[in-house]
Amino acid sequence: MTSLGQETPPPKSSPASPIKPANQGPRLDDRYSRQILFGGIGAEGQIRLSHARIAIVGCGATGSALAGLLARAGVGTLRIIDRDYVEPSNLQRQSLFDEKDASESLPKAIAAARKIAAFNSQIVVEPKVDDVVPANIENLLAGIEVILDGTDNFETRYLINDFAVKNSIPWIYSAAVGSYAATMNVLPGETACLACIFPDSPRGIVETCETSGILNSAVNLVASIAATETLKLLVEGVTSAHVRKTLLSFDVWTNEHAEINAAKPRAGCRACGERDFIHLAGEGRPHITLCGRNSVQIHERQRPIDFNEMDRRLQPHGTVRHNDFVLKFWRDPYEMTLFPDGRAIIKGTTDTAVARSLYARYVGS
Ligand SMILES: [Zn+2]
Repeated sequence: MTSLGQETPPPKSSPASPIKPANQGPRLDDRYSRQILFGGIGAEGQIRLSHARIAIVGCGATGSALAGLLARAGVGTLRIIDRDYVEPSNLQRQSLFDEKDASESLPKAIAAARKIAAFNSQIVVEPKVDDVVPANIENLLAGIEVILDGTDNFETRYLINDFAVKNSIPWIYSAAVGSYAATMNVLPGETACLACIFPDSPRGIVETCETSGILNSAVNLVASIAATETLKLLVEGVTSAHVRKTLLSFDVWTNEHAEINAAKPRAGCRACGERDFIHLAGEGRPHITLCGRNSVQIHERQRPIDFNEMDRRLQPHGTVRHNDFVLKFWRDPYEMTLFPDGRAIIKGTTDTAVARSLYARYVGS
């Protein structure tokens, strides 16, 4: 066993810090002076930002960029939810992480909270190492004003859409793959929702960052636009005339771009029209999903894992390493990453049966 990290992320301000936390009254010091000079924000807008609570679901490339921009802009509370850990292949575009995070396999939410604390200790970051699923979404997104999409899959986006529409919380869809980026604001009760525009998730072979690659500039474009829309929502409210009501897409390589009108809900929409929240109800949700290139995720629940015990148990079968957040087990040709709640990502196969059997063999069935 190697101890790779602290049990909890560092507090947002150390006892020695002279800076008051935002929730004890904002200090509009020099840090935000250039933003306060901007007419759209001003001192009043900056104070509103300091009281705002937003969530970023998924802290990969888009989530990192969103979190970086909005943390520096002074949004008071950022809840960062991510189920994954930092790997070397993330570093080309996931701007909150560094080589040390990757070598320690730190969970992205924890690494992000540490990085943000180093450049803005005035705000609160709430890292959640978790997979957003129907059973926990109410809990994970409680008390949030705007939800931002840093995910890489439609399953989670439809779940966020159901939750946001049901509870009338604005959310912003963002996606980037290859050189293509797309984003749309969803203002429940006013604009189209995700299910209005995309009634069904894409079928067949879907392009992913694992198969089609991704340009970091496409990520930063979509994150810049979505972060700015977030500032407008927080400062001016959902009735702001400046908030965009289209599905905007832009290919930074070919320069093709388009905007589809999304100002009104589609008649008969399952989610915002009929209020039939099938994704929130968890219908048809697989317990095992393919996840990225050559790996399978097992969504196990109610199986708290004692990493010390598991480390001991796995020692005879391969190489084991763990910290407080993840346990990694290598047994050729497979690599299993285990989380404290029992969730696992198994690399080296796309066969869910093989993954299930490995899990059953080494963790339990
Ligand atoms: Zn709709």
